[in-house]
Amino acid sequence: MTLRTLESLGSLEGKRVIVRCDLNVPLKDGVITDDGRVRASLPTLNTLIEAGARVVVCSHLGRPDGAPDPQYSLEPVAKRLSELLDQPVAFATDTVGDSAREAVAGLANGEIVVIENLRFNAGETAKDDSTRKAFAGELAQLGDALVSDGFGVVHRKQASVYELAEILPSAAGLLIATELDVLDRLTENPERPYTVVLGGSKVSDKLGVISHLLPRVDRILVGGGMLFTFLAAQGHAVASSLLEKDQLDTVRGYLADAAERGVEIVLPTDVVVAESFSADAAHETVAADAIEESSFGASGIGLDIGPETGAVFAQAIRDSKTVFWNGPMGVFEFPAFAAGTKAVAQALTEVDGLGVVGGGDSAAAVRQLGFADDQFGHISTGGGASLEFLEGKKLPGLEVLGWA
Ligand code: ADP
Ligand code: MG
Repeated sequence: MTLRTLESLGSLEGKRVIVRCDLNVPLKDGVITDDGRVRASLPTLNTLIEAGARVVVCSHLGRPDGAPDPQYSLEPVAKRLSELLDQPVAFATDTVGDSAREAVAGLANGEIVVIENLRFNAGETAKDDSTRKAFAGELAQLGDALVSDGFGVVHRKQASVYELAEILPSAAGLLIATELDVLDRLTENPERPYTVVLGGSKVSDKLGVISHLLPRVDRILVGGGMLFTFLAAQGHAVASSLLEKDQLDTVRGYLADAAERGVEIVLPTDVVVAESFSADAAHETVAADAIEESSFGASGIGLDIGPETGAVFAQAIRDSKTVFWNGPMGVFEFPAFAAGTKAVAQALTEVDGLGVVGGGDSAAAVRQLGFADDQFGHISTGGGASLEFLEGKKLPGLEVLGWA
């Protein structure tokens, strides 16, 4: 079975359509610092507006504690949405209360309202099924149909994602369709060579992806904080770099499995070691098997892949037809340790094939480093969701839309 599409909902003219978006944007002092997720929601919203639906947009923002918290209000997002759609967008100051009901009742065909943060209501993320169901029931009174388009939350069994889709006639929006199309190309007959680039902070966050992708890819390039556990698994000292001792056996297992399958695991040959974990720390490049021999001795911390490794990774990426990248190569938040991430991002823009960026921090990194979204084959809006998909897990928010 495949996902129910918008067409399955029939004519939408005059219908109240709830759209579950993922408008969980980064905010600083009430200002949106990256509106990528708002922009990603536009195709579905424009389609519904053109179809004459009365559009009720809902989303979560941040992690409020199940009660109203002004710093997580969706009001700035509603404003940005209005600018991007170039039409007025109403805003309801509650989610399922008087303000929401009145705003929805006041909608004409083709008009749109954003209701306040779903997570201002404890029912949205409640552990207990019946509490979620009760909240979904209240939400359902605001609409005649649900379009689920918050790809970033489809791995979560939450009221607006799961229970609401059971109550109302429901279908997947265009963003979810696009995201799944790309993820399918990464799992079903990917064009080869197929390279996966993994970084980020911890191996333990990525174990599922590694074991699921290992049999499917031609090579895995390892950078970021996790590289030190790989180096240690090969017997190298890593000084004070991030090391997950309890994962050493697992990592040794991956190395052996990869060797048996003929999958190349490419580890750095040089790394940038710093005196301390800070933006302006003294630092130097050393060979990956001599980290403790840097001037900082046993207290040195590896914060980036070295330039030689960056060049090798970049070449391997450019030589591939399919590339999935998750996890920054270094602590890119500090400019002195962003070069490895930049080299990988640059190479990804030059892939003659499909180059995909997945992961919240990785997406933030490429934008912070000055790349534009359209330089990449795809930047996923859902880090956790895309990783769970690639791990082969069942995602509740998709299953409820008919996906199997
Ligand atoms: P994503 O969100 O893209 O999946 P992760 O959350 O796994 O990525 O990891 C992102 C974090 O990893 C970044 O904040 C980055 O600073 C950190 N990181 C990368 N390299 C290192 C390193 N060598 N040591 C410590 N942290 C690192
Ligand atoms: Mg992250």
